Amino acid sequence: MKENSLQGKAIRALAREIRASLQTLYEEREAAGLAWIILENITGSRREQIMIRGDEPPDAGQLNAISQILQELMKGKPLQYVLGETEFYGLKFKVTPSVLIPRQETEELVQWILQTEAASGSPLTAGKTSAATAVTTMGGTTRMAGEAAGKLPLSLLDVGTGSGCIAIALKKNLSGAEAWACDISDKALKLASENASLNEAEIRFEHADILDEQTWGRFPSFDIIVSNPPYVTESEKTAMAVNVLDHEPHLALFVGNDDPLRFYRAIANFALQKLRPGGSLYFEINEAFGPQTLELLRETSFQHISLQKDLNGKDRMVRGFK
Ligand code: GLN
Repeated sequence: MKENSLQGKAIRALAREIRASLQTLYEEREAAGLAWIILENITGSRREQIMIRGDEPPDAGQLNAISQILQELMKGKPLQYVLGETEFYGLKFKVTPSVLIPRQETEELVQWILQTEAASGSPLTAGKTSAATAVTTMGGTTRMAGEAAGKLPLSLLDVGTGSGCIAIALKKNLSGAEAWACDISDKALKLASENASLNEAEIRFEHADILDEQTWGRFPSFDIIVSNPPYVTESEKTAMAVNVLDHEPHLALFVGNDDPLRFYRAIANFALQKLRPGGSLYFEINEAFGPQTLELLRETSFQHISLQKDLNGKDRMVRGFK
């Protein structure tokens, strides 16, 4: 789209025009969604406010920014990389091509963990938890009750943290938790730690290749270990969407061979060593390998294992307790 064709347009008309340009590359609904995100980003206002003030034209600087964003998008670059930011679990995150763009399925994983924790955590320690709750009702905050009972604060680790989205969203929603996150990529760790500061979340970051057992000694024990590891196999590469394949980090996407369980096997063994009794392991998984990932957890002697589908009805996460 040429910049001058945008000039003088009311925001509402502009939204239509942006959508029309994007529809040459994206499906109608996706194009409409993208158009709003662009306008929200450029005006700094929410969609509802933009609609109310729909008759006002944007200024020249804003028009210029919009046409630059459109140019990048028309090359197939994902919007989140073009804008350099995205939202995850109601929080803002910086994203660069060194990290995966946080997915909705991963928000569902975070939600599943938080729901499980809210429902008193591990089925194996449910008795312990309700005893702690009884102390709480009698005398002050949960934290005091935990400390009085000599209980350590809840601790968690996100393996292969990328942008930091899982660790940061969990830390923000589990008050008092001690959060750790690791990654093999220095660039990812740098960005994740910026995101932690941005969201005022205290996270301890470690550089580690979880496939290398020598690095395991860097970690203490945890109550929760979670990971969304690379899970796309070599043979699935050809079927991938080009906007993912051409722009997102292959290090974060691809298993590196045709063993779909490569990372799951290593992390499950790591978790077996590092989880406290009753602790839980959560994975985001490749939809094609749900039963196999469950079987792996069973073989690794995890208990109460379960598989959860995502909103699209695909096998997307598993959990097990030690
Ligand atoms: N869900 C991502 C995709 O399909 C893959 C994420 C991953 O490999 N962990 O693009």
